[in-house]
Amino acid sequence: MSQTTKPWVIGNWKMNLDRRAAEILAREIADDPSCRAKIKVGLAPPFPYLDRVAEILGHGPVALLGQDLHPEARGAYTGSVSGPMLRDMGVTHVLVGHSERRRLHGEDDNMIRRKISAAVEAGLTPVVCVGEDLAQRESQQAMTTITTQLEAALAADGWPGQGETLVAYEPVWAIGTGRVAGREQIIEIHTGIRRLLPGHARILYGGSVSPDTAGPLAREKEIDGLLVGSASLTATTFLAIVKATTPA
Ligand code: PEP
Repeated sequence: MSQTTKPWVIGNWKMNLDRRAAEILAREIADDPSCRAKIKVGLAPPFPYLDRVAEILGHGPVALLGQDLHPEARGAYTGSVSGPMLRDMGVTHVLVGHSERRRLHGEDDNMIRRKISAAVEAGLTPVVCVGEDLAQRESQQAMTTITTQLEAALAADGWPGQGETLVAYEPVWAIGTGRVAGREQIIEIHTGIRRLLPGHARILYGGSVSPDTAGPLAREKEIDGLLVGSASLTATTFLAIVKATTPA
């Protein structure tokens, strides 16, 4: 973690929780003083709860994220949510290219490029997610895969722009599996990503982060923050990760 910039910890709730549980969790996080000082915390609730979570977070320091967005701003796209709609709800950042979107919704690099452009156009900061699957890792294709994903992202209009450039490295084989990537693996990929991006990018790691693994990961100079799935679903585990990530 760099000494000069605040690390990020983002909780991706995915399609979990109900309205009441989302309210309680958002309140516990918003009220905790550890989410204020030397750290940037963000929450990505399911779309239907964005409005309520936005109300709870108010003008406090915890950022509100979308989990996804449609590449078009409006139109006949049943079931979809656009960048301007997210912006309207108080969202400032949006995950783009999460491996579950790539894998389960068939999103290819071209779609992800369009979504990044749409996020920038709507005034949202995309958190561009990249990562290799197990077969790609085992055939030594991890960095090649990520390079292809990033080159597509770099073809998006206006990205990276003047604001913060956020990329999350999430090896697919580490997401929701309890397997955290090794230190050397993460450093190698983060260094490679940094080389491909102009300026000062913030590179987060995601994949089975827990309160036990957060501290050692956060102390790595090459890791600028953490993207957390399962462990973001309870205040106890998420806040423990926030505390472990906060610089001394
Ligand atoms: C994720 O889906 O972004 C993620 C990192 O999930 P988990 O922490 O559950 O592996």
